[in-house]
Amino acid sequence: MVRADFPYFSHHPQDVYLDSAATTHKPSVVIEAVRACYENYAPIHRGLYRSSVELSDQYEQVRSTAAAFIGAIPEEIIFTKNATEGLNLLAHGLPLAESWKEGDEVIVSVADHHAVILPWQEAAKRHGLSLRYLELDEQGAIDLESLSSILSERTKAIAITHVSNTLGSITDLPRLRDILTTRGSEAIVIADACQSVAHFPISVGSLGADFLVFSGHKLYAPAGTGVLWGRESMLSSLPPLLTGGDMVVQVGRLESAYLPPPQRFEAGTPATEAVIGLGAALGYLSQVGMEAVRQHTHDLALAFFDQLRPVPGLSILASPHPDSGIISFSMQGVHAHDVAQFLGDRRICVRAGQQCAALAHGAMGVPASVRVSLGIYSTPEDIAPLVTGLTDLYHLFHG
Ligand code: PLP
Repeated sequence: MVRADFPYFSHHPQDVYLDSAATTHKPSVVIEAVRACYENYAPIHRGLYRSSVELSDQYEQVRSTAAAFIGAIPEEIIFTKNATEGLNLLAHGLPLAESWKEGDEVIVSVADHHAVILPWQEAAKRHGLSLRYLELDEQGAIDLESLSSILSERTKAIAITHVSNTLGSITDLPRLRDILTTRGSEAIVIADACQSVAHFPISVGSLGADFLVFSGHKLYAPAGTGVLWGRESMLSSLPPLLTGGDMVVQVGRLESAYLPPPQRFEAGTPATEAVIGLGAALGYLSQVGMEAVRQHTHDLALAFFDQLRPVPGLSILASPHPDSGIISFSMQGVHAHDVAQFLGDRRICVRAGQQCAALAHGAMGVPASVRVSLGIYSTPEDIAPLVTGLTDLYHLFHG
């Protein structure tokens, strides 16, 4: 689609990069934006001189770009260092509200990334909450229809992955909201959009979530950036995770008053250059067009499915949605790490292991899997080396 925009591929022309769900390569416009930022560097939000004011304006412009990208308003965009930080911020802050009591319940799913599950496990220990799990349906997707059976008047929040980084399934978040509305539940919905926001258009207005998080490095932006979006009404009562400089109105000896969101959640010196890079990445994706990105991923994933299915000994895990660009599989009689090592020796880059989703693997009854994941630079030419590699490997193990 746009491979020439990514210098990685001219530096590594032999690589077949199929690990974009782990992290993505950066287009030249992002690298250039970071470079230009360093060449005009200054502290932001503090200096009363021109370079500082200009860079502060650029930084705040990225907030507007990020808001427009997901159909939000800038005041609802909090910059974090990654999705993990956003998810921790919520699991830390939400249970501190007066309305949360010991014995309240939080629902997660077995398909969730550890970055969703672990912060809520810790919050459950701290606040005496009960953690309930949505299981998988027969297709290996999150079984939303079983939500009614675990939902109760004590359910305070549901933290759930939008696209599973392992199963490649898409959670129907508007359907989830419908179920909550029908049941009269006011549970807060937290969507982990790490694997969705880079692959198809998202508008928070129609998604049915109250909070949404994603990481910049998975959508062609520098690492060290992430976004936490929250409804303005919800952010205003949420306490910060980190306190310190750049987030206070007034500091006293015993008490201090914090700025309103989003500044209240952005204590300390930010990764300015990385956020500027995030702005460039979002601008780049908007130029390509997220609908075009979705179509590219969809068509290419279908071509991968078609050619992977006949590979001897290969079983595709669950029923991945082609829009996710994620295909996990196992090979009969060969450990996932051996598969990845064998492919890696041929410069085919895939992920192997539990992919930070141990419970999803447990639910599918497999100890580990191999994951192929697509980016906007992936091409049909990536398929043949993978298929040949896997077929050769099978014959090596099975004669
Ligand atoms: N959620 C999902 C679905 C992911 O795939 C990942 C990363 O793999 C994360 C959360 C955590 O992202 P990060 O490590 O960038 O915070």
